[in-house]
Amino acid sequence: MAAGSTTRPTAIVAGAPAASLGSDSLETALPAMIGKYRVLRKLGTGAMGVVYECLQEGLGRHVAVKVMRAGNTATAEEICRFQREARSAAQLTHPSVVRIYDVGAEAELHFIVMEFVDGVSLDKLIATEYLTLETSLRLLYHTAQALHAAHQQGIVHRDLKPSNILVDTLGRPRIADFGLAKSVSEERSLSGSGDLIGTPRYMSPEQVVSACEEVDGRSDIFSLGSVMYEMLAGRGPFDGQNVLAILRQVVDEEPAPLSQVRPELRGEVVQICVRAMAKEREQRFQTAAEMAGGLRAALLKELGTSSDHGALDDDHALIAFVPPTLPRKRRASRWAVRGALAAAVAAVLLSIYPVWQFARGTASSEVSAKSVPAPTVAYPKLRAQLTQEATQQLSGPLRLTENQTPRDSVKSVVEDLTVLLRQSPDDAEVRLLRGRAYRRGGEYLAAVDDLSAVLRSQPANLPALADRLLANYQLYVLYLGNLNEPALRLPAPAQFFEDAKVLQARGDASQKYLAGLAEFLARQEDGDVEKLLAQRPSPPTATIYLPDLLLLETDLLFRASEQSFDDPPPEGGQPSRSAHLSALALRTLRRGLDADPNHVGLLFLKANSFQRRAIWETGEGEDRDTAVRRSRPQFEASSDRLRRATLRTGCDTAIARAVLLDNLGWNQQAYDQVQEALACRPTVTQLYAIKAWLKLKNPEDGTLEETLLGRIGRDLEPAFESPPEEFQPYLIRGLLRAAAGHWDDARRDIKDCARRTASGGWPGISGTHLQWLQSSSGATTEYLYATHAVLDELAVPPELRIRLLTKLLAHIQDASAIASEGLEPERARTIRAWSHFSLAASYAAQENRASVLQEVRSALEQKVADLTPQTFKDNGTFSGWNEDAEFVALYQQFQTEEPKP
Ligand code: ATP
Ligand code: MG
Repeated sequence: MAAGSTTRPTAIVAGAPAASLGSDSLETALPAMIGKYRVLRKLGTGAMGVVYECLQEGLGRHVAVKVMRAGNTATAEEICRFQREARSAAQLTHPSVVRIYDVGAEAELHFIVMEFVDGVSLDKLIATEYLTLETSLRLLYHTAQALHAAHQQGIVHRDLKPSNILVDTLGRPRIADFGLAKSVSEERSLSGSGDLIGTPRYMSPEQVVSACEEVDGRSDIFSLGSVMYEMLAGRGPFDGQNVLAILRQVVDEEPAPLSQVRPELRGEVVQICVRAMAKEREQRFQTAAEMAGGLRAALLKELGTSSDHGALDDDHALIAFVPPTLPRKRRASRWAVRGALAAAVAAVLLSIYPVWQFARGTASSEVSAKSVPAPTVAYPKLRAQLTQEATQQLSGPLRLTENQTPRDSVKSVVEDLTVLLRQSPDDAEVRLLRGRAYRRGGEYLAAVDDLSAVLRSQPANLPALADRLLANYQLYVLYLGNLNEPALRLPAPAQFFEDAKVLQARGDASQKYLAGLAEFLARQEDGDVEKLLAQRPSPPTATIYLPDLLLLETDLLFRASEQSFDDPPPEGGQPSRSAHLSALALRTLRRGLDADPNHVGLLFLKANSFQRRAIWETGEGEDRDTAVRRSRPQFEASSDRLRRATLRTGCDTAIARAVLLDNLGWNQQAYDQVQEALACRPTVTQLYAIKAWLKLKNPEDGTLEETLLGRIGRDLEPAFESPPEEFQPYLIRGLLRAAAGHWDDARRDIKDCARRTASGGWPGISGTHLQWLQSSSGATTEYLYATHAVLDELAVPPELRIRLLTKLLAHIQDASAIASEGLEPERARTIRAWSHFSLAASYAAQENRASVLQEVRSALEQKVADLTPQTFKDNGTFSGWNEDAEFVALYQQFQTEEPKP
């Protein structure tokens, strides 16, 4: 123990009134409470409390002070035990362990003073380029060694996880929070929150099964195995959708084999992880030293040497520098419920843990007796302080301190509110604020979760309703509804429409207006845009919505401009309606960003505007891709702003990026983003349809081969786990089946698709698809003919088209079938002619000259008005044969004859 703290222990004043909390802000109150520390900045928030970087006056050194939540439930004896534990951890002096300097309590706030580590916690390095295999093995090796040293002194960590492994600027791992989990979480926990010891994702099975069972060092070995898995796979080994599911997996299920997730890993590396994570502790490495030995051997092999002559332990010489800024994320997906969201998980844990215990037949009264403690004396003050700050931050543009990104600022608000919610989960006011903060940070699903919780207890809370409406709008209508590909614009959830209805009936003028616009946009219908915009209240009664109003208006104007893009130009050199609307849209966008320069929705529209402009401004003789490439630097700058404004803890920003990238035509990148979004929220089933569609439209090697179709089909399966409400999954499965030549199966899907939407129509669907859907319940000829048009838009191999068209022509040859279908002779002739035309095109793709010639003849023989020799001559597919004598003769033969009327 350092700096006189043992000689003059800090007084324990638990239960004393919070007299020393006399200051206005928590930050300035802290030094007064603890005496000799000056707070420099907040480092982060964890399950136990908040960590600050402080300057220790007198000694002039930087320390990290962790302030635990107030807890009036702790007895003097428990506090003593907590301090005893901390003191025993303080005896640990290992270069890879964060030193503990002091521990104490003031005004009900317990605190630990520890060595400040300049660096970054490992959780922030997961799935980044920094964590190469070599670096990962090094970090794990040193961590295992440090664990062994602690275990030898009888100290078990109990809560080893990436956020407790700090990587300093020399790249050394430093383990924090040693031994603290036990003391603060026992039975009637000091914090009073009743959190389970450890974090579910990294807990050992024995920790889950019995919170009270004496765990030993082998439990830390399991946790280190989980950390290793996450470092190598880029995502954790267990990723259930809720805490109960994770706990179940920890106890009963094997994670997806590392060898599958990263096939290039050598067997012995995989083996180390498997052994560390054995469910039975007898099967694991029995000591951390043993694990360190395995890691060392693997590392040496990776370095291509058999001995390092001790250099591995000379960390200055061998460990790579951590880059001063965070390294770039790897492409690989990543489980992202962390940080602030982990707080929400912890809250859920409280309610689920007893159920889990009960389910396992070990219901424990201690566990269920743990409930949220009554607010302490210090709590109301803390709450007032933090809610006031949050309200201020959320009611106008973010106020940023120097070097702070908008993301940092929102993150800090979310963290503060999370601390409060952990103390009182039913505090609707705080939850509404956090929902709003999540929306601010572009985490719409998380926002909807919080706002729905508020609305469950206060169904008439109109501000909560308006925020939920906007959160749903921003994810489903703004992001997904702005996909250029109409078939992918999935409908907004029913909840969105219900909220819009209530707000339109009962909201104030601003709420009514924004609900009206949002609903109109969600319906994807045509309408009188000017009339809608004229309903804008003036001035908007609740200015808190001003940037949102401008967002909705910009979205509306952009789309209206797009819809009138093909309108004939007005007379007299006037700008077209489309140009007028897009200029208006850009002006509104600018006004919105003036009102809030970090509004995630507006930043999204701005980033998306570049590809739109590329379409509008494509110059003479220039294709769209060139125009898009030209605006790439602006796009990158603007998507970077979006990145800096979003929290990126959930899947929402990945979805935004997928849309932006797909609209730009960068399909592979878009696909990667959808993958990332799904890795983090596998429950957003709409994404499976988008993922399958992207592959369907852009097959890797250019053609939709049978095996690829099978793979896409399997990717789509989760969308059908429960029958989807929307029509897209059926349409896409129908397309996949049609592309594989299973036309009867495809027809069943298309019928389902048509049934899904019988009432609502198919907003945004393309003409070809619409005809296909309508043909599914009609005659076979029409269905096959519409199928051929659909396949024309897909990269199916020419053989498949030939097979379909041959089948169609054979069918139409059968007079009785035609008669029973009631097909008009004129229609039959048209279908026949165009089928031969398409057959000719397919044979042309195969360079089968004889068959092309024959099909061209058959097509022309039908003598259909709009299918003449000129049609072939003008068509690029046949231009190669324009000089060919036989084709010239054939064209001449039909040219002379008058086509039948
Ligand atoms: P838990 O409360 O379960 O340990 P956690 O590790 O995420 O969760 P904290 O221990 O409260 O939370 O730490 C919060 C953040 O503060 C960490 O992620 C880390 O970035 C930072 N931090 C913690 N201890 C130190 C330290 N000694 N030096 C520098 N930064 C620290
Ligand atoms: Mg920690």
